[in-house]
Amino acid sequence: MSKAYIGLGSNVGNSKATLEAAVELFAEFGTVSARSSWYKTAPVGYEDQPWFVNGVVELKTDCTPREFITRLQGIEHRFGKKTPFRDGPRTIDLDILLYDDQVINEPGLIVPHPRMHERAFVLVPLAEIAPDVQHPVLDKTLAQLRAHLTDPHPVELLEE
Ligand code: ADP
Ligand code: MG
Repeated sequence: MSKAYIGLGSNVGNSKATLEAAVELFAEFGTVSARSSWYKTAPVGYEDQPWFVNGVVELKTDCTPREFITRLQGIEHRFGKKTPFRDGPRTIDLDILLYDDQVINEPGLIVPHPRMHERAFVLVPLAEIAPDVQHPVLDKTLAQLRAHLTDPHPVELLEE
């Protein structure tokens, strides 16, 4: 059984409802063992678009990493994911952040996610649920990485 962390994001449609529904579907290939609060976050890269809703889920699964990303992409597809351009608006984005302490560098599958450690919208929810987990490449805990963030983009708790 492996433990994976999935980053979820959306800024098109009813983002929170979409992401909640996606988390329900994770039951098809794993067990959700922790989930962060939802956050509203300022867009990074391309800024002329709505704020995102972001969160992180911890999942226990028997999938291999390759099966796992195929499953996540299947869910993205079911919610009609379209990415018109890099860093642009999207109905849903599901990223593998960590997969146990595996380091994977294959076409279409890079783990840990290569930009996770410099993004507040990932590290704030991730450190909320897994502060003591070690990043397998940077050899720092997620709480340490979060404390050293320099990303100026606001990340705020989503009001219920
Ligand atoms: P973004 O980089 O903004 O998340 P996409 O969601 O459109 O953009 O994903 C682009 C590509 O990233 C996908 O084709 C996917 O195969 C690849 N990819 C590589 N590593 C990962 C990962 N750890 N999690 C999710 N997608 C990944
Ligand atoms: Mg993605």
